[in-house]
Amino acid sequence: MFPSDRGYAAGEPPGSGLRLPHRLLLATRNRHKLREIRGLLSDLSFEIVSLSDIELPHSPREESVEVFETFEENAVAKARYYRTLTGLPTIADDSGLCVDALSGGPGVRSRRFAEVPAPDSDQQDRANNEHLLRLLEDVPEAERGAHYRCALALIDDSITLLLSGRVYGRIAVTERGSEGFGYDPLFIVPAHDRTFGELPPEVKAVTSHRAAAIRSLRQWLA
Ligand code: IMP
Repeated sequence: MFPSDRGYAAGEPPGSGLRLPHRLLLATRNRHKLREIRGLLSDLSFEIVSLSDIELPHSPREESVEVFETFEENAVAKARYYRTLTGLPTIADDSGLCVDALSGGPGVRSRRFAEVPAPDSDQQDRANNEHLLRLLEDVPEAERGAHYRCALALIDDSITLLLSGRVYGRIAVTERGSEGFGYDPLFIVPAHDRTFGELPPEVKAVTSHRAAAIRSLRQWLA
């Protein structure tokens, strides 16, 4: 898939030529993802800088980067884009919700699931949740299975690391709780019988799709 790169999938042993960067760009405009990933990597001895830390202004070109049909390709495209712009080793996250009753949708289209003209991200999240509830109105509990997926790409000079994580659950019939972001008030984690909206951030930090992907990444960085 990435013939010019040395690509590794999660779980494979690190290659002997891996050079570890000390300063990583965490390339996301999503403040929630930024907070979660920063928290998950906070104990490692890497300086993690965000797009706003390096004062990279938003460009309309960013919107045309993630055009692919898989989380993995989108994560790599985002990491490559910002790596090329900044010259920094870059981590990018592409993630979303896959609902069984919607044949895996909204999937890579999770961010813009509902059509909202020029929304801010909180308005968009609210509209997405309302849209999802409407679509699942007649779907019984047993058929409300879903999972979150997260693909993380780390790109440096000659390296592309690609890691992924999932968490399985089901979609609630109403929003519950105000923790997290996006679809979290609707996503029930079976082991707790609570939504990510109801669970404290510390629980999401060990059970989420992002936490699983970061655990794989940490095996490479530690
Ligand atoms: P991306 O920025 O293109 O990767 O889109 C991510 C979208 O997926 C977000 O805007 C949310 O709608 C959804 N999403 C991804 N991860 C999470 C999560 O941890 N909680 C809630 N929603 C999420």
